[in-house]
Amino acid sequence: MGVFDHAEFDNHESVHYFRDEATGLEAIIAVHSTALGPGAGGTRRWTYNNDNDALTDVLRLSRGMTYKNAIAGLRFGGGKAVILASDRAPKSPELFRAYGRAVNSLGGRYVTAEDVGCSVDDMRYVREQTEFVSGLPHDEGVAGGDPSPWTAIGCFEGILAAVEARLGTDSVRGLRVAVQGVGHVGLNLCRLLHEAGADLYVSDVNRSNLKAVADEMPVTVVPPAELLFADVDVLAPCALGNILTSVTIPKIRASIIAGAANNQLATAEDGKRLAERNILYAPDYVINAGGIISVAGEYYGKCSAEQVRTDIGRIKVRLQNIFDEARASGRPTNEIADELARKLVAAAKEGQT
Ligand code: NAD
Repeated sequence: MGVFDHAEFDNHESVHYFRDEATGLEAIIAVHSTALGPGAGGTRRWTYNNDNDALTDVLRLSRGMTYKNAIAGLRFGGGKAVILASDRAPKSPELFRAYGRAVNSLGGRYVTAEDVGCSVDDMRYVREQTEFVSGLPHDEGVAGGDPSPWTAIGCFEGILAAVEARLGTDSVRGLRVAVQGVGHVGLNLCRLLHEAGADLYVSDVNRSNLKAVADEMPVTVVPPAELLFADVDVLAPCALGNILTSVTIPKIRASIIAGAANNQLATAEDGKRLAERNILYAPDYVINAGGIISVAGEYYGKCSAEQVRTDIGRIKVRLQNIFDEARASGRPTNEIADELARKLVAAAKEGQT
């Protein structure tokens, strides 16, 4: 299948393919929209079955970034990058330098940071080659660094908003929360939930990540294949996307889905399926914006960590508004969020013409 007739193409402004012979780097950078600013979104390094799967992932993720950045009120458009992991292209400083040159060649149309499979250290090598990168080591009290703890704070407060809307309580104390994936965001989210008195159910396909969380706090470990269907109050997906489908949704027992993973819904129709089952879904790109809020504060400079914290506090209010509108109109939350994001981007485009 070609790029232009790809089901997820959705009028991307540009899609760029990069290969570096010396390091084996293969990467795709997708810029969905620059209406509100440079296309911004992290770099995912992942093993894909084939190039088309990588393309599908990057297209969906970059459109999600347009929506996420618009709703978060950032001066960023939407973009995303994937590095195709393989034995031919092992992680190395040189690989990330080559990737940095690729980012730089776009002249600022795309701003990167870390996502799944990449770290602050990797971004330091990218920074050697380009200024269009964020999520770098930073001074105390100033915005910057690993975005994941910020994402976790936004998710935690988003869970509180969902719990209030759906269960009528303002605390997670005594609630059963299932966290799928205890990596960078999931672990930090577990800490916040545990401190707030939630009972945690966790799964991960990576044993050392599971051990890290189990060593730190009481958790019930659930096999990965069962976690989505656990008998819990809240399901917090913090691994990968495409998990909420026509097959999984009928078996979900949680009444709230609120977590960090991007592209949780396989299709927009799945949002409707959740609403029909009276499962309250926190649109992923609204609840997980904490990291990009930190990235934006760092990228545009002169932003304190305190300001980032204040801006992340607005995620809860945005979700409350979406939940209120969903209740009043009977529409699925994902439709309400998508419509709002598209309106913001359209208004910005109009302002440019
Ligand atoms: P990560 O790679 O650190 O953690 C993901 C974890 O999920 C890993 O431990 C992995 O082993 C686990 N996992 C993978 N497949 C699984 C499965 N089938 N069942 C259970 N566990 C599984 O990534 P992260 O940075 O924590 O991000 C998690 C999700 O949140 C991703 O979808 C990412 O795009 C999204 N997100 C992250 C940020 C951020 O600030 N890091 C911001 C916004 C969105």
